[in-house]
Amino acid sequence: MSEELCAVCREPLDHNRANCLDCGNDFHLALRVDVPARDCGEAWVDDEVQAVVFGCNLCLGHTAQAPSPRRRRRHTGVGASEVARARKRPRAKN
Ligand SMILES: [Zn+2]
Ligand SMILES: [Zn+2]
Repeated sequence: MSEELCAVCREPLDHNRANCLDCGNDFHLALRVDVPARDCGEAWVDDEVQAVVFGCNLCLGHTAQAPSPRRRRRHTGVGASEVARARKRPRAKN
């Protein structure tokens, strides 16, 4: 059995974890603010799905360890609110 590792920091996951909306990998996220825990991503409310969604720091461009900064250009240097806004871009309708 292989240990589950955080997609961001590559350390073993505990119960403070979330699944990234973008890459689908699990990462460290403090689910309660009153408990000290590692944050390797962020959570925010997505208007489309009306639910809390999660993004890891790699996809949010919050780390220098981003594997493909050029391909992730739209996320580079932006916060979760910017990412959420990008996802709210309305689709063209006929
Ligand atoms: Zn981590
Ligand atoms: Zn991700």
